[in-house]
Amino acid sequence: MDHPQPLDTAAIRAQFPVLDQQVHGKPLIYFDSAASAQKPLAVIDAQSDYLKHSHANVHRGVHALSQRATDAFEQARRQVQSFLNASEPEEIVWTQGTTDGINLVAQTWGRQNLQAGDRVLISRMEHHANIVPWQMLATERGLHLDVAEFLPDGSLDWDSFQNELNRGPKLVAMTYVSNTLGTVNDAARIIQAAHAAGAVVLLDGAQAAPHKRVDVQALGCDFFVFSGHKTYGPTGIGALYGKRALLDSMPPWRGGGEMIAEVSLEQGTTFAAAPFKFEAGTPHISGAIGLGAALEWMEATGIEAIAAHEEALAERTMELLREIPGMRLIGTAPSKAGVVSFVVDGIHPYDLGSLLDAQGIAVRTGQHCTQPIMDALGIPGTVRASFAAYNTFEEVETFHRALKRAITMLS
Ligand code: PLP
Repeated sequence: MDHPQPLDTAAIRAQFPVLDQQVHGKPLIYFDSAASAQKPLAVIDAQSDYLKHSHANVHRGVHALSQRATDAFEQARRQVQSFLNASEPEEIVWTQGTTDGINLVAQTWGRQNLQAGDRVLISRMEHHANIVPWQMLATERGLHLDVAEFLPDGSLDWDSFQNELNRGPKLVAMTYVSNTLGTVNDAARIIQAAHAAGAVVLLDGAQAAPHKRVDVQALGCDFFVFSGHKTYGPTGIGALYGKRALLDSMPPWRGGGEMIAEVSLEQGTTFAAAPFKFEAGTPHISGAIGLGAALEWMEATGIEAIAAHEEALAERTMELLREIPGMRLIGTAPSKAGVVSFVVDGIHPYDLGSLLDAQGIAVRTGQHCTQPIMDALGIPGTVRASFAAYNTFEEVETFHRALKRAITMLS
C-alpha cells in the first residue's frame, strides 16, 4: 500500500473552531476523541444550512421542503453506504449510535433466532454496549454468554477465542478496535473463523469507523455498528449495517409511524421493507445530514492518512511514557489504534486526570465502560489519551511534561 501523505494539522485545526480556546488559562489539548470527536466546520455548516433552509419532516410531505429534506436525508444514507462499502443503501439503518444498533440487533435478530441453551460469544475487551444487551437477552431467553479472553498485551487470545467458538455460538459479537486497550482485532480472521463455525457476526465498529477504512463486503461481517459522534459527526445518530437478507428476515423493533406499510384497527398492521421497518418515528434528520458531511470530510482528509497520523501520535506517546518511573501501559498489542491507556503506581487515575485538566489537557479517566477489563487487570481504571486528525506532536510533548509535573505533585 502507498504511504499516505502526512496530515496538514494546522489546516485541519483551522476547521475545528472548538479547539481554538483556553481552558484554565492554558491552550486546550483535546485528547478525548475516543469518547467523542470534535466537529469540523463542514459538519457544523451542513447541519446549520439544513436547519436554516431545508428543514421539514421526511418521507411524508409532497411539499418542496419535505422533498428537499428527504433527498438530503437519503443522500446521507448513501454516504454511509459508500463509507462502509455496503452494496446497497437498504442495508443501512439509522440508529442513535453504536449502543442503539447493538440493542436493535439483540431485540430483533436475537429474539427471533436465539432460544434457551443457545450461545453468544463476546470478548473480555468489549465495551459495556456490547455486553449488557446480550446479558439482558441471555437472562430473558436462557442463553449462555461465553467470553474469549485477551492476552497480557491486550491482544485477543486466539486459543481462547477458538475454544469458545468450538462450543458452537449462534452469534459472535466483537469489537473491531478496543476503546480502552487500543487493540485492533483481526476482524477478517475473526469473521472467517466464526462463519466457518456457523455463527452470525456482529462487529462493534465504534472505534474502528473513525480510524480505519472499513469495507463490510471485504470483511464479510453480517452486522456492523458505529456512532456518528466518534466519526467527527453529531451525537444521537449512527448506523447499523446489516446484510440485506438478514435485515429482510428480521422483525421490526419499535412500532410507530414511518415503519409501516398499512395500519388497520381491524386487520392489524403490515410493515415497511428494510431499512424503514427499523426506523419508527421522526428520525434525527439534521444528525444524519451532519454524519454524511462528517464521512465526506474524513474521505477528503484521507482515512489512511488520519489513521497513520493517530498511530504515530500514539507510538510517540508510548515512547515518552515508557521513560516515566512507575508507568504501566495498558494495551501494547502490536496492532493498535490511536489510544494510549496507562496507570501510574500509587496514583489514582482520577487525580492525574484532574491535574491534567488544570493544565488544559482533556483526557479520560476511569473504566471507559469496560469494567471487565479493569477487573481482569486488577486496576480501578486508567488514564486514557486518545487522538484524532487534529492532534499534534507538540501537544504530545506538552502532555508528557504536564503529566510528569502532575506525577511529581501527587507522589
Ligand atoms: N463500543 C465501543 C468500542 C465504544 O468505544 C463505545 C463508546 O465509547 C461504544 C460501543 C458505545 O458508543 P455510543 O455511546 O456512541 O453508543
